[in-house]
Formats: sequence, C-alpha cells, structure tokens
Amino acid sequence: MKVHNVEMVISAVKPEQYPEDGLPEFALAGRSNVGKSSFINKMIGRKALARISSKPGKTQTLNFYKIEEQLFFVDVPGYGYAKVSKKEREAWGKMIERYITARRVLRAVVLIVDLRHAPTQDDVMMYDFLKYYNIPAIVIATKADKIKKGNWEKHKKVVRETLEMDKNDPLIVFSSETGLGFEQAWTEIEKRM
Ligand code: GDP
Repeated sequence: MKVHNVEMVISAVKPEQYPEDGLPEFALAGRSNVGKSSFINKMIGRKALARISSKPGKTQTLNFYKIEEQLFFVDVPGYGYAKVSKKEREAWGKMIERYITARRVLRAVVLIVDLRHAPTQDDVMMYDFLKYYNIPAIVIATKADKIKKGNWEKHKKVVRETLEMDKNDPLIVFSSETGLGFEQAWTEIEKRM
C-alpha cells in the first residue's frame, strides 16, 4: 500500500474511546526498543509519527492511526521494560487483554521481534496470549540489516521455534533501515483486511 494519508485519531485508555468507523485494525506489539516505532514509520512512509507517550512507564494508551481511510494501525505500548512497576505492568496487561479479546475489527497483531536474538520470555508470552485467544499474528523480525544475509534463515528458524509459531502465521524478515520486507509486510496486512 502506498500511504499518503495518516491521521492520529485517538490515544485511548478505555474501550469507550476506541474509534467506531468499523475499519479493520492491526495492532502492533513488541518489547520496548525492539524497533516498533521505526517499523510503523517505515510502513507509513514517515520520519516520525506523532507520539503521545514515547517514554516507557508513562501513561499507557492505545494509539489509533487511521491509514488511507482504510485501516487502523493500533500502537500498543512496548512491554518488557525493566523499570516498570508491577502495578503498571498489570495495567498494561488489562488494557491489552480488554482490547484484544473484545475488538471485533481486530484482524491481526503484528508482533515485532529482533531477528538477531531469540525471542524473549515476554515475546513468547505475548505470542502465546495471542494464540490462546485465536488472534492471527504477523511476526516481523526486524533489524535484519544488522546480520549477514547468509544467517537470516538460521535466525528465522530460532524465532519460529522459540515462539512455536503457528504455520498460518507469517514470519517476515524486515529492516527499517533498508526497507527490506516492506512489500511483504503490506501484502500480509492487506490480505487480512
Ligand atoms: P521502539 O521502542 O520499539 O519503538 O523502538 P524504536 O523504533 O524507537 O527503535 C529503537 C532503536 O533501534 C532506535 O535506535 C532505532 O534507530 C533502532 N532501529 C529500529 N529498527 C531498526 C532496523 O531495522 N535496523 C537498525 N539498524 N536499527 C533499527
């Protein structure tokens, strides 16, 4: 998809605030610093999207970006940041659970992981949680530019096996630096719209 128009619609803390357009939604999740914002920016062709709460541990909201009047990207606050209190972690869990379990227009969760390393325990928990609720996942293994092309397959295998990925969920090697995987990521999203 060629993106010209992106509108930050709402930074929601509760379901009553979610948009009611009925457009398909794709939520974006990943641990803090994995490269989620860079992924979103690459996909929508922006240098930097308006960010409400970029600092980990700040107010946790779901940020709804309407794209080409056709779909929403829903930016989920990053997880796995060590300095977050137990209370904040629980609030995060409740918010994401409320959204994921009740949102009819949610088509898939785009889970961003780092191709260089095996998925973390938090990544595995996130993926398990999605599978428990039967939510399709599109797994993006980003920062591919940081490892040799000859090693991509080996690293992909580690991601697939560590997450115990469902065969129906795609795994896309991505780089926000080079744009690698851009077309494939859009294809997988558009397929599910
Ligand atoms: P977020 O916290 O998940 O939103 O992560 P960011 O998008 O802010 O990225 C965290 C850091 O990783 C930043 O310094 C980015 O420049 C860097 N980064 C993100 N994606 C890539 C990538 O594909 N390749 C490289 N080399 N660096 C990346």
